[in-house]
Amino acid sequence: MYTGIIDHYRKYLPVNDDMPIVSLNEGNTPLIRLNNIPRTLGKEVELYVKFEGANPTGSFKDRGMTMAVSKAVEKGSRAIICASTGNTSAAAAAYAARAGIRCFVLIPDGKIALGKLAQAMMHGSVVIQIQGNFDDGMRLVKEVARQTPVTIVNSINPLRLQGQKTISFEIIDTLGTAPDYHCLPVGNAGNISAHWLGYCEYMEAGLTDSRPVIAGYQAFGAAPFVLGQKVDRPETVATAIRIGDPQSWDKAWQASRESNGWFDRFRDEEILEMQHELAQREGIFCEPASAVSLLGALHDIKKGKIPEGKRVVCTLTGHGLKDPDAAIKQSSAARLKVKPTLDSVRAVILDNMG
Ligand SMILES: *Cc1c(COP(=O)(O)O)cnc(C)c1O
Repeated sequence: MYTGIIDHYRKYLPVNDDMPIVSLNEGNTPLIRLNNIPRTLGKEVELYVKFEGANPTGSFKDRGMTMAVSKAVEKGSRAIICASTGNTSAAAAAYAARAGIRCFVLIPDGKIALGKLAQAMMHGSVVIQIQGNFDDGMRLVKEVARQTPVTIVNSINPLRLQGQKTISFEIIDTLGTAPDYHCLPVGNAGNISAHWLGYCEYMEAGLTDSRPVIAGYQAFGAAPFVLGQKVDRPETVATAIRIGDPQSWDKAWQASRESNGWFDRFRDEEILEMQHELAQREGIFCEPASAVSLLGALHDIKKGKIPEGKRVVCTLTGHGLKDPDAAIKQSSAARLKVKPTLDSVRAVILDNMG
């Protein structure tokens, strides 16, 4: 039976045999080859998405949280804390519930997807909405943790990256080798750093003889890596990457440099269109921030920056159900209201057979 990333990748993680494992069987997510979208490109590429929305709380944050919470419990911590745009708090709340410890989450007032807020509340964490953004919350968490007995489970906790690096292990284990390019959204930049760590460690272990070029994509109004400097008031519909002061700044630059990668940014409208197209044409529903990875990949394939004949993996970081408002707003035209009669329903069907 599969029982989560710590048990499965124990050899590559900083864990002792007697460490209590707090797991929800995270990881082991599907790597799905796209069929329909690449066909419209007119270019020969092997394009995959790693669907992290299939994790227990619906995002990749579970990979890091199982490590961070297990270690917190091992050292006797009774409470964890994080700042979050939503998914970190959802994962922290769930794993704290599993462990039977307290969880405090600081989230930006009003700018959090409804599903994520529901998760944090449902799992019994103490939700503190601050009149500020993620960066304000992050600063407060660091300050308060110095004065109170709480363990920070944001990705500045190195155990988070240790857990999250297992995504790269899974991709290599599935494909038999590393992809040529790996594309992903970048917010606080923990994940891009963790991906690179995973690829490097598997190469050192002799399990792959190559590593991918890493392309990191951001939203136009929250693109500190593209601008080369912090952004004061980050804004984007992709709330999971609405971050102006990324905590893993140096590590992300290192990943980009060592892999000969790059950063780019895209507009909110294009991001939402990509999310919609992926849902409609491939049957995969990710959240807006996740769609940035595929949007960037397709953009760079069209431009030839990613050459033909290459194997490309995009991380779809979170599930579309997290943010039902964003989804309904852009697809409400598909909802028809008719009289409850056979004729009216039949008319709609015949009109829409395509
Ligand atoms: C956390 C998150 C990101 C950004 O990851 P970072 O490690 O902060 O760069 C992107 N998409 C989703 C869905 C997330 O939850």
